Amino acid sequence: MSDVDLAGKRVLIREDLNVPVADGKVTSDARIQAALPTIRAAIEAGAAVMLVSHLGRPVEGEPDEKFSLRPVADRLGELLDRDVPLVKDWIDGGVVVEPGSVVLLENVRFLAGEKKCDPELARKMAALCDVFVMDAFGTAHRAQASTYGVAEFAPLACAGPLLARELEALGQALDSPARPVVAIVGGSKVSTKLTVLEALAGIVDTLIVGGGIANTFIAADGHDVGKSLHEGDMLEIARGLAAGDGATIPVPGDVVVGNEFSAEAAAVTKPVSAVTDGDMILDIGPDAAAEFAAIIRDAGTVIWNGPVGVFEFDQFAAGTRTLAEAIADSDAFSVAGGGDTLAAIDKFGLRERISYISTGGGAFLEFVEGKTLPAVEILEKRAG
Ligand code: ADP
Ligand code: MG
Repeated sequence: MSDVDLAGKRVLIREDLNVPVADGKVTSDARIQAALPTIRAAIEAGAAVMLVSHLGRPVEGEPDEKFSLRPVADRLGELLDRDVPLVKDWIDGGVVVEPGSVVLLENVRFLAGEKKCDPELARKMAALCDVFVMDAFGTAHRAQASTYGVAEFAPLACAGPLLARELEALGQALDSPARPVVAIVGGSKVSTKLTVLEALAGIVDTLIVGGGIANTFIAADGHDVGKSLHEGDMLEIARGLAAGDGATIPVPGDVVVGNEFSAEAAAVTKPVSAVTDGDMILDIGPDAAAEFAAIIRDAGTVIWNGPVGVFEFDQFAAGTRTLAEAIADSDAFSVAGGGDTLAAIDKFGLRERISYISTGGGAFLEFVEGKTLPAVEILEKRAG
């Protein structure tokens, strides 16, 4: 976008303004804040700016007040200190916006054909603008009308600064990273993240596992994991990864267990060999956390996705906190992504001390897996 003359042009920017909303108010404006520099730059360049985004998961084609971008328009207006009108009926054209001003177009998922990338819908979006700017990294792994189709048909299509910076930061962590490279993969989406593990095992030097993933490796070592979240079907894959010639995968030697998944559950620390049927592993233990923190402090690059314990409950948050603080203290170039991972970083107040915070969850993981992001591919095609 910075290479394009936007003065007097009608510029349609795909943003990721999918923020949490409660009682008609935005409850976390992190994604809006992230979008501000791009929006300001376009306004200052003299563009007539139209912003497009999805919000939540409405039934496609059925406008529903519950999923209106009204609260986002209000918050954007406050942050930009200017009026940001919300345009309800926009797809058939006639959007009124002057150069040097900005409007927000209502939830793109109210339009039938968005998800399946209907070409007719995409052509209508493209007809609204002179320039299409893709700046929503978090949706770049989806080929939809507002992320992909519109870029095919717009007179000119380019990447926005946020998307460009995101791709650059992730490239720095994955393409020719400073070694040793340490990845931390935790969280609860075990089966979907195993493909990520396989990809990372071929790239990184050490692969630290936590959460349900660690439990799967502990079970693969022949230990009882009791009622813990783990993937029984994946034990062979875990054994293959542990024995393979890829990354070293240190499995936690001690864990913190509870007898139920609850904020009231009493936390008990024990070696993995002592876990019994009634136990639920809800965090890595202090010895494992200290061992992993030392590995992280010596890293050249750290890639983090997934809390290593149930950090939402304070008695099971220590493992995630220890690793997050080690990343913050380390001189390594660090990137973190994932909705809950970012929530953990914010809970511990460490946002400013991570080198790069990715705005994408699914897109971040697909990028890490080495997959081509469709929305990026089409921009490259248009540029070439
Ligand atoms: P992200 O959103 O960062 O990609 P996930 O959605 O995969 O991460 O997982 C985050 C969730 O995993 C957190 O809500 C956390 O409570 C949960 N979690 C972490 N460790 C465990 C565990 N041992 N057992 C059950 N849930 C866990
Ligand atoms: Mg999550």
